[in-house]
Amino acid sequence: MGNAISRRDFVKTAGVLAAGTGTAFGDGPSPGGEGPIVLAPRSVAPVVVSSANGNKYRNGGSRTCVEEAFERIVRGEDVLDALVAGVNIVELDPEDDSVGYGGLPNADGVVQLDASCVHGPKKRAGAVAALEGLRTPSRVAKAVMELTDHHLVVGKGAQDFARQLGFEVEDDLNTERSRRMWLEWKRRIDPQHWVDPSRRSEAGRAAARAMIAEGLLDPQHVFGTINCNGVSPKGEVCGVTTTSGLAFKIPGRVGDSPILGAGLYVDGEVGAAGSTGRGEANLFSLSSFFVVECLRRGMSAKDAGIEALRRVVSRTEKRLLDERGYPRFGLRFYVVDRKGGFAGVSMYAKSVPSWMDAFDPPAKVVSFAVCTQNGPETRPCDVLLDVDPPAEA
Ligand code: ASP
Repeated sequence: MGNAISRRDFVKTAGVLAAGTGTAFGDGPSPGGEGPIVLAPRSVAPVVVSSANGNKYRNGGSRTCVEEAFERIVRGEDVLDALVAGVNIVELDPEDDSVGYGGLPNADGVVQLDASCVHGPKKRAGAVAALEGLRTPSRVAKAVMELTDHHLVVGKGAQDFARQLGFEVEDDLNTERSRRMWLEWKRRIDPQHWVDPSRRSEAGRAAARAMIAEGLLDPQHVFGTINCNGVSPKGEVCGVTTTSGLAFKIPGRVGDSPILGAGLYVDGEVGAAGSTGRGEANLFSLSSFFVVECLRRGMSAKDAGIEALRRVVSRTEKRLLDERGYPRFGLRFYVVDRKGGFAGVSMYAKSVPSWMDAFDPPAKVVSFAVCTQNGPETRPCDVLLDVDPPAEA
């Protein structure tokens, strides 16, 4: 990259910018005229925060998502452009089977992708859902934001929109691996056709459970997504979320990721939040919106995220609670505030294998990715429920 800066340069730049943090806030009026007065920062320590996959996949290059986005932000690039360039790395990496190209397909073997983005300073948003044939739905979401009067375009309309703009539309986004996984799942659930929808759905779950137990599927990627939020040295906040959604979902199922207020919410005067995990739980409480409202009332990024998880638990239907009264699913939020405060929070410290009952999960510590002037890191999330995740989801 011709205009790339060295790590030492950007650390130096960020360090200088960060030197003013904590003392450089003026008494700016609240432009919205509602809620408490929002302090307008003159200089903040830039930060990019994302789900853990944002510091894992490189698509054969040298940088992870959070690293790429952070370097671009520090160079002065538009924050949303930088974040989208970051998540593009994960979308294009066939190794991440929860996002973009290589994402696991729906029950019919078709890869359908969802994405959303919000530009805080511009007060604009765009999203796509059930989009087929495009490896980088985040870019199409950004085009919806930039070029249309709308916030959400779905299905065939979204694909046509992308084609008209010159995006490459492919017939089939499956990789060899995602197709193999789908074929294996299909083989297991449908020895005799799908006559009884309820039995079909139970068979589908049993098949996925067995495939996880055999090490074919990663339980973390039955649900899976990347959310990435960032703040520039000027306090400009943006966010993006992109996903292939729930693996082997009912065709047309859309989760939280492309829904403003659910999988992503940004208020440029306050902060940003986005999520990964059981989209339905998040949709039911519009949790990202709730997180940002908690920030607005003065909560820290961590407390705001934990409060949203608490709200989700209190609004969870009985069928989704275990015998202890705890949710049988995982949910995580990634939060930044306009002053550069950030957090990754999770329902449980260890991973939950979602709806796969009777499966003994190889529980992993749930973490998030962050890039600051100290470089990219993967850190454990702060946790709401300090108990073992449900043994049976
Ligand atoms: N939240 C996404 C969805 O429900 C999936 C995930 O993040 O794991 O579509």
